[in-house]
Amino acid sequence: RPPTDAAVVWFRKCLRLHDNAALVEAVEVAPQHVCPVFVIDPHFAPGSVGVNRFAFLLESLRDLDCQLRKRYGSRLLVLRGKPETVFGSLLQTGEPVLKGKPRLLMWERDTEPYARKRDAAVEKLAEENGVEVRTFAGHTLYDPEEAIKANKGKVPNAMPAMVALAKLLGDPPMPLKTPAKLPSLPVGVPARVDKAFSVPSLEEMGYDPPPEKSSFPGGESAGLLRLSEKLKDSAYICGFQKPKTRSTAFNPPSTTGLSPYLKFGCVSARHFFYGLKNVYARKKHSQPPESLLGQLYFREIAYLQGFSVPNFERQAGNPACKPIPWGKNPKLLAAWEQGRTGFPFIDAAMRQLTRVGWLHHLARHAVACFLCRGDLWLSWEQGRDVFDKYLLDADWSINTMNWLALSGAAPWSPPFFRVYNPAPKMDSALNVQDPEGNYIREFVPELSKMPKEYIYTPWTAPLEVQKAAKCIIGKDYPRPVVDHAKVSAENIARFKRALSETKATGAKGSSGASSRSA
Ligand code: FAD
Repeated sequence: RPPTDAAVVWFRKCLRLHDNAALVEAVEVAPQHVCPVFVIDPHFAPGSVGVNRFAFLLESLRDLDCQLRKRYGSRLLVLRGKPETVFGSLLQTGEPVLKGKPRLLMWERDTEPYARKRDAAVEKLAEENGVEVRTFAGHTLYDPEEAIKANKGKVPNAMPAMVALAKLLGDPPMPLKTPAKLPSLPVGVPARVDKAFSVPSLEEMGYDPPPEKSSFPGGESAGLLRLSEKLKDSAYICGFQKPKTRSTAFNPPSTTGLSPYLKFGCVSARHFFYGLKNVYARKKHSQPPESLLGQLYFREIAYLQGFSVPNFERQAGNPACKPIPWGKNPKLLAAWEQGRTGFPFIDAAMRQLTRVGWLHHLARHAVACFLCRGDLWLSWEQGRDVFDKYLLDADWSINTMNWLALSGAAPWSPPFFRVYNPAPKMDSALNVQDPEGNYIREFVPELSKMPKEYIYTPWTAPLEVQKAAKCIIGKDYPRPVVDHAKVSAENIARFKRALSETKATGAKGSSGASSRSA
């Protein structure tokens, strides 16, 4: 078959039209035909990706398809299968959507291991079939490879180093404009495509409907709207101090709630950066690490770390992770994952995770500390995998960096002996600010009638109070799975011992793990 004069733009995370370098370049170098494609990879399936995130992805694809149709009379072609297999035929014969192989294949680069391996395989296929590949950096403020090179190989792991690197690099590239026009689909495509190449439903993908309507609708349109509404509020943007945002605020959250949009690239980080810069130019504003710019810099650090640290996603062989002999206890892990630990604040956060797919940063702190160094003495890798399944914003680099931090095992961890109280009624460290316990009442309905005096510690309520609240502890809601005061003291001692043994023997990490995301 003769090749078609078409560029295939492979959408993966960059699920947007604004600041999309692959799309902009395709318009320039393939003025005849551009073919936008997304591949649903079975690697990300019901067992490993929770329903809320998959629903978010499908909504994002629908939004992209709808915009491509409305603006350009084009569409998104959704293919299914392992990308290596799908491109095996697309790059050889054009099947199943083109009449011949394309001339060009373009995408935004990914830094996580699964994506790098996948992309190397597709690049090889392209080379074998004589199809040119062009790739672009656009998921982060800076191209990680160039940033690390400019920093003489040094990878920032704390805010001062990141601020210094940003100063060295200067402002990131300006976001690219949404193309005014897009070349048409290759001849014959509209006739050849049918429902098989449309965005599937959740049911078709093997999912039951999500537990509730999400307050995070997927897609570029919703993401840009959310960002522009935040940016309109200059007092919020300029006064933003992360540790002062309330961990129990959920509808709306006290932080921007932009993470799922950044994760899927529905909103470009550079677009966010310049939005902030514009607002900052008009007013005195907070600074990193507490400011919103600081949050984008934390994201950048995570990507730089994930890109450069060997075995970043596990303890074994990871130079950024101290070897801690975490325990194994499937029952405790399940109690934590299902929000049945008997600590209402911890359970509310874990149930928010599974029900909604999003939780405040400090709630993430609380449950992560509880799982590892604080109470359960279980490995951060197991906690990370649970987050990776349920979070709307599950991100291989960011999730891993934060779990490493919260476990106490990373060089950038807070002191391992500073443990959060899992019953933090008036806790300034977790900034709960919820004396009535409304957050707990929402996500742990068994406790909805518990008087506020006992809502964080219901096991201390007299039996009469439990009866009146229709919640008998040990029957309707679990007793605490651990004695916090006792286990946290033991765990601090264990952690200390592990560190001194490591110092003495120079031992390296020992446990293994797998991880997904994307
Ligand atoms: P905002 O405070 O409004 O921040 C704006 C953006 O900055 C976020 O959307 C995010 O992209 C970035 N950001 C904020 N905080 C961090 C941080 N600590 N590290 C890196 N980037 C940050 N965030 C994810 O996006 N994906 C994850 O998988 C993830 N896993 C986490 C696991 C643990 C154990 C912890 C403690 C934190 C994790 N975070 C993760 C970081 C953070 O909690 C979320 O980014 C944040 O809560 C998202 O809400 P927001 O968009 O309102 O944040």
